[in-house]
Amino acid sequence: MKILVINCGSSSLKYQLIDMKDEEVLAKGNFEKIGLEDSFLTHKVKEKKYTINKKADNHEIAIKTVLQQLTNKEYGVINNLDEISAVGHRIVQGGEFFDKSVLINDDVIKKIKLCIELAPLHNGAAIKGIEACKVAMPGKPMVATFDTAFHQTMPKENYLYPIPLRFYSEYKIRKYGAHGTSYRYVSQRINEIMDKQGKERKIVVCHLGQGASLAAIQDGKVVDTSMGLTPMGGIMMCQRVGDIDPSVITYMMEKENILPRDMVELLNKQSGLLGVTGVSSDFREIEKAASGGDEKAILAIKMYVEKVAEFIAKYMVIMQGIDVIAFTAGIGENQIGVREKICEKLKVFGVQIDKVANNCRGEETKISSENSQIEVWVVPTNEELVIARDTKKLV
Ligand code: ADP
Repeated sequence: MKILVINCGSSSLKYQLIDMKDEEVLAKGNFEKIGLEDSFLTHKVKEKKYTINKKADNHEIAIKTVLQQLTNKEYGVINNLDEISAVGHRIVQGGEFFDKSVLINDDVIKKIKLCIELAPLHNGAAIKGIEACKVAMPGKPMVATFDTAFHQTMPKENYLYPIPLRFYSEYKIRKYGAHGTSYRYVSQRINEIMDKQGKERKIVVCHLGQGASLAAIQDGKVVDTSMGLTPMGGIMMCQRVGDIDPSVITYMMEKENILPRDMVELLNKQSGLLGVTGVSSDFREIEKAASGGDEKAILAIKMYVEKVAEFIAKYMVIMQGIDVIAFTAGIGENQIGVREKICEKLKVFGVQIDKVANNCRGEETKISSENSQIEVWVVPTNEELVIARDTKKLV
């Protein structure tokens, strides 16, 4: 069985075709700048990379182009589209409607649309991707996997905000979290790697990418996570603000007559590491600046480390202990120095990092020393595989 996994952004379409026999990725790629003049597709088959410059005004043209590459006479990986058994879509926001992946039908589409307000860029794009696949492959079974679904096990005391409760009952304002598909993969991997007796553990996963969050997972269920109503809350991120005193926002708005939508833009795109350093939103650039003595970059990394460590400390209390801390995503898998600094902060909990083992990037590795009271791991995430497995199960 071959499954096509689709992850649509507002101007991008990422995909993987996975053979579920051995979970091998047959081909993958990314269509970028959809809607612009210079849109292009990077398509990879094994180690070979093909760049296709194609003007795609919309996601429908983008998906058609992707399907043409998959069936291409010269480097295609399937003969025709009948070989694709089903399509799995990544959906960012499923609200309170979905606590697991589901087969897509009209009712599911209606509910995904109802969640657009909570994730306008992401859910709007996902709908475009679903519609485009419907046109290109009529009748093909499709599955939706939600980033919020894994977080639906959070208890009320952890997902409600201390605001008048009618805002929850009337508008469903609460913490939803994000990166749930990544948390499912990493926590299951940790349980597989370590588990000899089928015992579930108390795990904190740090998904540190461009967007970043942490989750506390006990007995396979999320008990708390750092992101909130939208992906702007929680830890300081590359460009996003994370949690701050709410009055800072209203004070800034009053001082400079900033409109709500402009404030959202400022807190989403000009804050976090970029806001403090003025250098870049890319962690590699910030690290380079810091090692060159740039004081703002040094400060920004200190702040970042502090925020991550604070959430881990909070989860220590919530779960009454932690067995494993796992790092994943771009920064978590690759930034050796950041992992080391976070673990240094956690010495108080008996965390001891093995600096030699920590000298790794993007590989599944135990990076704590034998004497560490909490095991620390790097586990590269694989959200596409989770979506493909769910899709296989449902069709
Ligand atoms: P997204 O949330 O967009 O999926 P990623 O998980 O790719 O983001 O994370 C992007 C961040 O990871 C960037 O800040 C980048 O600097 C950092 N990163 C990615 N790859 C590396 C690497 N090889 N070495 C160091 N940092 C990396």
